[in-house]
Amino acid sequence: MFFHKDAYLDNNATTRVDKSVTAVIRKVLRKCYGNPSSLYKAAHLSKEILEESRRTFAATIGAGDEEIIFTGCASEANNQVLISLFDRYAPGKKTILSSPIEHPSIISTLTYLEKKGAIVHFLPVDSTGLVLMDKLPDLIDNDTFLVVCMFANNETGSVQDIKTIARIAHAHGALFLCDCVQAIGKIPINVREQDLDYATFSAHKIHGPKGVGALYIKNGAPISPFIHGGHQEAGLRAGTEGLHNIAGFAQAAKKLPGLLNKYSKNAELKKNFILRLREIKPDVIINTPPVSSLPNTINVTFPGIDNAVLIAVFDYYGIAVSAGSACSTPDNKASHVLKAIGLTDDQARRSIRFSMSDSTTRRDITFILDVIRKFLMKKTPQVNMIAPSFLNKTVLFDDRTYILDVRFWYDKVKIKSLPNAHEASFFSFSRYLCRLPRDKNIIVVCQGGFYSPMIAFYCKRKGFKNVGFLMSGMEGWKAAQPELYKRFSGQNVVKLQPRGYNAILPH
Ligand code: PLP
Repeated sequence: MFFHKDAYLDNNATTRVDKSVTAVIRKVLRKCYGNPSSLYKAAHLSKEILEESRRTFAATIGAGDEEIIFTGCASEANNQVLISLFDRYAPGKKTILSSPIEHPSIISTLTYLEKKGAIVHFLPVDSTGLVLMDKLPDLIDNDTFLVVCMFANNETGSVQDIKTIARIAHAHGALFLCDCVQAIGKIPINVREQDLDYATFSAHKIHGPKGVGALYIKNGAPISPFIHGGHQEAGLRAGTEGLHNIAGFAQAAKKLPGLLNKYSKNAELKKNFILRLREIKPDVIINTPPVSSLPNTINVTFPGIDNAVLIAVFDYYGIAVSAGSACSTPDNKASHVLKAIGLTDDQARRSIRFSMSDSTTRRDITFILDVIRKFLMKKTPQVNMIAPSFLNKTVLFDDRTYILDVRFWYDKVKIKSLPNAHEASFFSFSRYLCRLPRDKNIIVVCQGGFYSPMIAFYCKRKGFKNVGFLMSGMEGWKAAQPELYKRFSGQNVVKLQPRGYNAILPH
């Protein structure tokens, strides 16, 4: 097996920051320290950059400058529209129509609003995540003040017929919010042509910085502030603007035409990837629609394969992919999107999302397929998969057993550690490696059995011979061994000391 350069195929989670964006951010941080709200000279440049950034971004989506406000992220923008419209319309009108495959920043906010009296209806979707349009007129009525539907789905890549949804919403007197976070840069967006009332965007999906989003509010559409305070962003988003991030966002937006063009070339790579994948494993299920989907996204169910193990094997070879939305990754709860398109919990846990960037190459795809082929032939490194029932009293207290607990602190609050566990941090794990014994049977433990395989494979790569991970993690073990949990959990737990301190950022 050859090692290719790292292959990053998790671009729907976030993208690498473009060099020109970094340059702009550094320049703004160095030169534009004046507060854009101040009136003296030192602030003029800051204000100018803020407004120029707004003009640049607005132009890329066909909006007017006065229709854009910058926010802390797209999640905030989604929250702002939903909550401020509910506050405005309820109790006169209380119904919101949405889809069950929206991003958590929509779904969770809808759940919050339901507790405050909102009525939420979900449009059904087909097995690839496309909204069943013919059901839309049946579900919308005079009580519906808002229709919410994402342009493109982050997990399956399905692209909705936004124009038709907008038309039906407007015909019934409802406003339309479209989450365009995954669509921008990958497919053309024009808020006028698509007739959107609200649209949300995030810089870090288009090679911009994290921590800045944008909200499009059509001229005259109602909206209220979400963060209250100062008068920034026309009084709609208080807080001193993160000017460097906003300028970085605008710089990334300037590159959108080129990005669109490059992404369109992904479609061929994607087709080829699916074809070759089917040759290697004919029973894969492709959860992405063949047409009406993003050119960069492929969601695949691998029957018989635990996605946590395959993701860990990929990680071993420097390939970054994910199981679904980055917002729900550490739990490995079955994705709400995959469940909505009809997958069972088990199928959802066997699914992986590959999301290419504009610079993904044919060689990257060949490398990934090669890893999958070798994995299926059991020619990739193996680690022990330890069932919770196997980890009984004898194994637990055997001198050769070494429990390595890599859980996050908030998980340990919910479930106590195994007896004699050695605790290390998942995210800075390399600094703990020198503390591990080479002559013992290492069992890596996490909360649900989802991220421990990555550490087990990492140890394997570093030459540890006997390494395994606890399948279904502490949750599974607690359920399988309630007596042992009650008697011994939390006893004799050792906190390992990492090698070196302050080594957080590489120089
Ligand atoms: N909407 C969609 C479809 C997304 O994919 C994401 C991020 O993954 C968001 C909203 C949230 O964006 P942000 O990270 O800027 O809050």
